[in-house]
Amino acid sequence: MAKLFLHDSAARTKRHFEPLNPQHVRLYVCGPTVYDLAHLGNARPVVVFDVLARLLRRLYPHVTYARNITDVDDKINARARESGEPIAAITARTTADFHADMEALGALPPDVEPRATGHIAEMITLIERLIANGHAYAADGHVLFSVPSFANYGKLSGRSPDELLAGARVDVAPYKRDAGDFVLWKPSYADTPGWESPWGRGRPGWHIECSAMSIELLDGHVDLHVGGIDLRFPHHENERAQSNSLTGDETVDSWVHGEHLLFEGRKMSKSAGNVVLLQDIIDRGLDPLSLRFALLENRYRSQMDLSWASLEAAHSTLKRWRQLLSDAGSGTELKFDQELSDALTNDLDTPRAMQRIRAIEKDSSIGALDKRAIFLFADQVLGLDLDRGVESKEVSADIQALLDARITARAEKNWALSDSLRDQLSDAGLEIKDGADGQSWSWK
Ligand code: AMP
Ligand code: ZN
Repeated sequence: MAKLFLHDSAARTKRHFEPLNPQHVRLYVCGPTVYDLAHLGNARPVVVFDVLARLLRRLYPHVTYARNITDVDDKINARARESGEPIAAITARTTADFHADMEALGALPPDVEPRATGHIAEMITLIERLIANGHAYAADGHVLFSVPSFANYGKLSGRSPDELLAGARVDVAPYKRDAGDFVLWKPSYADTPGWESPWGRGRPGWHIECSAMSIELLDGHVDLHVGGIDLRFPHHENERAQSNSLTGDETVDSWVHGEHLLFEGRKMSKSAGNVVLLQDIIDRGLDPLSLRFALLENRYRSQMDLSWASLEAAHSTLKRWRQLLSDAGSGTELKFDQELSDALTNDLDTPRAMQRIRAIEKDSSIGALDKRAIFLFADQVLGLDLDRGVESKEVSADIQALLDARITARAEKNWALSDSLRDQLSDAGLEIKDGADGQSWSWK
């Protein structure tokens, strides 16, 4: 089996990935907080880790891929207060929208998708255990994790204790013993969702949900725990402190983080006001998988700058590749390609995989059927739906009239008219070819 190398955030280097049990690989992805539509930045980690899940499934006989839904969070509470919409309605609608968007991006559903609110009882149990083993304490309706009780806090994010404290020193709540201590449980009053607990009615802090769900659903051991780079600190650092304090061991073997997406030069975020949604891509007449294509042309560990121009270029290359596959026939054979395999197993080097596909496309020594079989091999992991075939060749009556007029113009050797009709058809998105059998066309 090909060896898989991944950049491990804690080791800060590329490591040979060796699952505890190669017969059963366990992957945990931190999923969305469901209060609003996903923007293209939110989509980047989902697409990147879908490629990882697909690759793991190709390499190992059995993979459990878990991705949670955070459906209890102060951002959700705030949204409900502003809009008047009940929390349950916001989270249900946003979860459904997220699923639809990720499906359009070719991201396969995880094997398990736990919701935080479905695991409150387990979180309470873990918090009680952390109190019992001296890693947490109750104070003023809250339960806090005691950071000094965990020896190598900061190891994952590479922050020194001083740096960690510098961030935490502002406005330290009076009930904290140490400025860096973080919340495991907090009180809920009147209109905030809450659950009965040994510390009164309250709700969990953010980090405990992923410890509870990953320990429970992945049997206490996670081979790969992954997410966006902003999750490395504090979310994953805190999760690691909780989980390791519970199990007494390193619960997660490898942490992998994906970098941010910029859009036309600026980080896409709600606060920067440059949010672009998948629907905006569709509204411009672009295939949603153009976004996946453009994301895969960049290495997941580098910041990438997306633009409308790169999405448009991705759209047209995607069409060309689908055309190539459909022209080559309809076989389902896959052909292994060493370079493609090497690129993907070398820390998900998708840009190199895409370059390799372009090289194969141009290589006249490779037959059409072989090209098709290699593209299909790559697509198992890249997930670009290359075998969709060309879209319907039905066109509007106006375009059909232009196509017919061009056939007549060529029969009459009226080249000037034929060229001008070609330009008009090109503007309408059709690419015209003149071959021995006459005129043919495809979508650009
Ligand atoms: P948010 O809805 O802003 O809390 O984001 C949810 C998750 O999406 C974050 O934790 C990040 O991992 C990811 N994310 C948000 N913005 C970006 C971005 N511009 N690029 C890549 N990932 C992002
Ligand atoms: Zn998480």
